[in-house]
Amino acid sequence: MTESGEFCPRCGDPIAVDREQRQYPGAATRRERKLCDSCYFDRFDLVDAPDRIEVRVCAQCGAIHRGKRWVDVGAQDYTDVAIEEVSEALGVHVDARDVSWQVDPEQVDQNTIRMHCHFSGVVRDTLVEETVTVPVKISRETCTRCGRIAGDYYASTVQVRAVDRVPTAEETDRAREIATETVEAMEATGDRDAFVTDVGETDGGLNIKVSTTNIGKKIASKLVEEFGGDFDDSETLVTEDEDGDEVYRVTYSVRLPPFTPGDVVDLDDGEGPVLVRSVRGNLKGRRLTTGEQYEASPEDGDAPDARKLGTVDDAEETTLVSVEDEHAVQVLDPETYQTKTISRPDYLDPDADTVRVLKSRAGLHVVPDGSPRGEA
Ligand SMILES: [Zn+2]
Ligand SMILES: [Zn+2]
Repeated sequence: MTESGEFCPRCGDPIAVDREQRQYPGAATRRERKLCDSCYFDRFDLVDAPDRIEVRVCAQCGAIHRGKRWVDVGAQDYTDVAIEEVSEALGVHVDARDVSWQVDPEQVDQNTIRMHCHFSGVVRDTLVEETVTVPVKISRETCTRCGRIAGDYYASTVQVRAVDRVPTAEETDRAREIATETVEAMEATGDRDAFVTDVGETDGGLNIKVSTTNIGKKIASKLVEEFGGDFDDSETLVTEDEDGDEVYRVTYSVRLPPFTPGDVVDLDDGEGPVLVRSVRGNLKGRRLTTGEQYEASPEDGDAPDARKLGTVDDAEETTLVSVEDEHAVQVLDPETYQTKTISRPDYLDPDADTVRVLKSRAGLHVVPDGSPRGEA
């Protein structure tokens, strides 16, 4: 063996020249690089493993605590979680090449898994193997989210109300749907703080309690976007948090417009009832006497002075007896079966055998076919 003239800094043995000339680029320190093989392996650990690992899992939802927060991992069982946590925690020496490893979990009891980890790798052209056993303790806790849900925590309430009426089933059903959709969309982005705490019916409408003010505001905005009306917000101081900051709860009061699409209203302007098509912005619809379009002035907005006569769903099919002229037709009164002469709106098909009519305190009126919202 040719000697390099260098000596092992630990034992003083001369180092073979081929050793010195070899490259161990990964070697941690220069001193380590200079050690003779014997001294090097003496102190060598292929694997750096913690004595034990604790995995905090939420017993309610299965989330695990990682770093400083709870994360949903969607694990089927905790063994998979334990394996993953152990692999994260294990370190393999930087000098090792061609590392392979396997983990055999041994379930000791319900909350303890012993991980037998077998590693092999090539270090200084030598195959090195090592087995470490890491006990994993599963501690079952309640995550922040589940704790809050269990404690009926909420940060904002959306009050769904309507002006001079109670919200319709369609409106409250949609409000529930919007709440769920909003929370689901936020959950999909990994937001664990989003949930609906409670949905409660009251005499005047619906109260939706949600976990953050942001969700409350989103629900209120979406409802108004779809159904018209408006909302405002008010804060109530509920407590101080651990840092002494004031914690507010925000109530979003949604006021849906007094009329809804499909309503037939009397504006008391002598031009006949209007079938409401839209109440977003200002009320829009059609005269049942002529078929002309009606649109409330900007000042009246979605709440012109009007009385509700009924809805288009109250209309009944009856016989179109005859067309008198451009402005009048004869139909059978669906209640009395007497022939009545009534206004002829432009949407009436003069060749039809039957028409749908609404009988109200304003008289008999022909209503257009199809949904009022579907009309242009
Ligand atoms: Zn040595
Ligand atoms: Zn949980």
